[in-house]
Amino acid sequence: MRKSRSITLSASRINCLCNCPHEYWLKYIEGWRPLQSSDALKGGKNLHRLVEAFFNGEIEIPIDPKVGAGYEKFIQYFLSEYGTPIVETEQRFELDFGYGKKIIGFLDLLIPENGEIIELKFQKIPDLSVIRRSWQSKIYRFWGLLNGYTKYTMIAIKKPGIRQKIKETEEEFYQRLLEDITITTETVYIDNSIFALRAELVEMFDYVKQLHKGGIYPKNNKACKVFWECQFLPLCQDGCTLFYEQKTQKELKKDAR
Ligand code: SF4
Repeated sequence: MRKSRSITLSASRINCLCNCPHEYWLKYIEGWRPLQSSDALKGGKNLHRLVEAFFNGEIEIPIDPKVGAGYEKFIQYFLSEYGTPIVETEQRFELDFGYGKKIIGFLDLLIPENGEIIELKFQKIPDLSVIRRSWQSKIYRFWGLLNGYTKYTMIAIKKPGIRQKIKETEEEFYQRLLEDITITTETVYIDNSIFALRAELVEMFDYVKQLHKGGIYPKNNKACKVFWECQFLPLCQDGCTLFYEQKTQKELKKDAR
């Protein structure tokens, strides 16, 4: 019997596929990545790293006041709402659909004693409905249903929208940042209705299988400049590789593990 090609999906891979199959091909099959990730992404990653370090008892000093203020605001909020429970951070999970098909992901925060999954998002304009409808959120809840977690909490931290004024001191700016950053939250209970996601995920695997089989990953030109410009535009439109590097096969395999 011929062994079928394994397929690894994640929320980001599914988002990418839905947005533009060609982008999926460039990013996850060919392994292209921009030489520099965007500042917005770096800001979010920094804050995630700091929050993780806090719960792991490590010390990290935020240098960027905007990141520092976001961190302080979140920790204040968390301690006032939850106290000091045992928290697991960045837990990797795998949902095995059989025949080499799996979904992988990382859970931001888990509070096992509450049966609660916490997802952190940094948004310019906090909008929990966007988080709730996302693949990531649905996959998290699906994982929760299968693993005895009953609560799913979304925490949106507003990204700072202000700049330091010329006559303002660092301390004054920091205080204004703390006022500017807001925390919006919502908890939903995970019930059996999320099990319907299984069928959607199976469809997604079938779709990827068809793409692999045909070897054609169509371009969705409508997605090139919606919201922001696609990071692969020069590569996709002109074949220009100047701003990119390509992952090795070893790295690609590691990503899919
Ligand atoms: S530039 Fe447009 S068509 Fe090309 S990968 Fe990006 S979204 Fe797809």
